[in-house]
Amino acid sequence: MVMARALVIGSINDVGLVGLVQKIEGVEIHYLLLGTGDASQLGKYGVTKAYVMGTQVDETSFAETLVGLINANNYSIIATPVSKFFKTAVAVAAQKLSAPLIVDVIDLKQSGNIFEITYNGIGNRAQVTAKVTDKVFLMAPPTRFKPVEKTTAVSTETLQPKVVPGIKVVSTEEKPKGKVRIEDAELIVSVGRGFKKQEDLKLAFELAEVLGAEIGCSRPIAADLKWLSEDHWVGLSGHKVRPKLYMAIGISGQPQHLAGMMESKTVVVINSDPNAPFFKNCDYGVVEDLYKFVPALTKKLREILKK
Ligand SMILES: Cc1cc2nc3c(=O)[nH]c(=O)nc-3n(C[C@H](O)[C@H](O)[C@H](O)COP(=O)(O)OP(=O)(O)OC[C@H]3O[C@@H](n4cnc5c(N)ncnc54)[C@H](O)[C@@H]3O)c2cc1C
Repeated sequence: MVMARALVIGSINDVGLVGLVQKIEGVEIHYLLLGTGDASQLGKYGVTKAYVMGTQVDETSFAETLVGLINANNYSIIATPVSKFFKTAVAVAAQKLSAPLIVDVIDLKQSGNIFEITYNGIGNRAQVTAKVTDKVFLMAPPTRFKPVEKTTAVSTETLQPKVVPGIKVVSTEEKPKGKVRIEDAELIVSVGRGFKKQEDLKLAFELAEVLGAEIGCSRPIAADLKWLSEDHWVGLSGHKVRPKLYMAIGISGQPQHLAGMMESKTVVVINSDPNAPFFKNCDYGVVEDLYKFVPALTKKLREILKK
């Protein structure tokens, strides 16, 4: 078994990720302590070396400093908390070292010279285990893990960040007004490849108008057919929505689509195929041809809502 050396990044009050790297037997743990705090306290979690970086720097300089520290110590695991700052800084460092960055980590094991990392993947719909043989960056909320107490002596060193030119904003442009913010919509009528022609989408637009809903869509509608702009695209690689009502019309319900809308309060599915996977993930399902059902529903709602 190769003895691993890990670097955990965090503040003095946020030491949870030490618990993650402790899952590796015999691991040597170093800590990059950000801000102020008594680094000697880290000894009670088995940390043997603490680098204290009191100066705040931007993401680019942090990445540069981190890469220097990793190269000097040859860490195989670098565990970092989750924040906007780390998502940029750590991604830059990982890219510089050509190392993988795995986010939302839930478990870590070592077998021989292989690290097995389990994380929430596929839009949080599956636990995925990746096997890595070289350096790997892991990102997770520190509160997810509880370090085991085991006293060691800590040697402490102040780390001066390497300040390099950061990301420069070259120009800014205001977003055009009136653009769809599907993430904020309370009611969504969403369309998929069950619609045969672009002009047929008017059936969904009419229904959305009566309901006062925004229009969503599956990936093929925005990305392949380009019938709607990407502002409407719901899913793993599109927008995440959580409306009160999500009405999916002619969408099969593949996991990548579900990943974007599973937090909707009420889900209604209209699909002509009774075996469409979406029916396993909805509150109300209508097995019917959309070309028959949608105009009838719009008509009925118009009568009820007097629109
Ligand atoms: C890495 C990756 C990321 C992805 N990200 C996304 C994403 O973010 N969002 C996304 O949506 N997809 C995503 N996909 C694609 C996804 O896997 C599916 O291919 C896609 O969601 C299918 O779109 P669809 O349901 O509109 O089309 P289809 O799967 O073709 O389904 C069409 C449905 O319409 C029904 N239908 C046909 N005719 C009628 C009718 N007359 N009346 C009623 N129903 C009818 C059919 O029964 C069928 O269920 C991703 C894929 C990959 C690999």
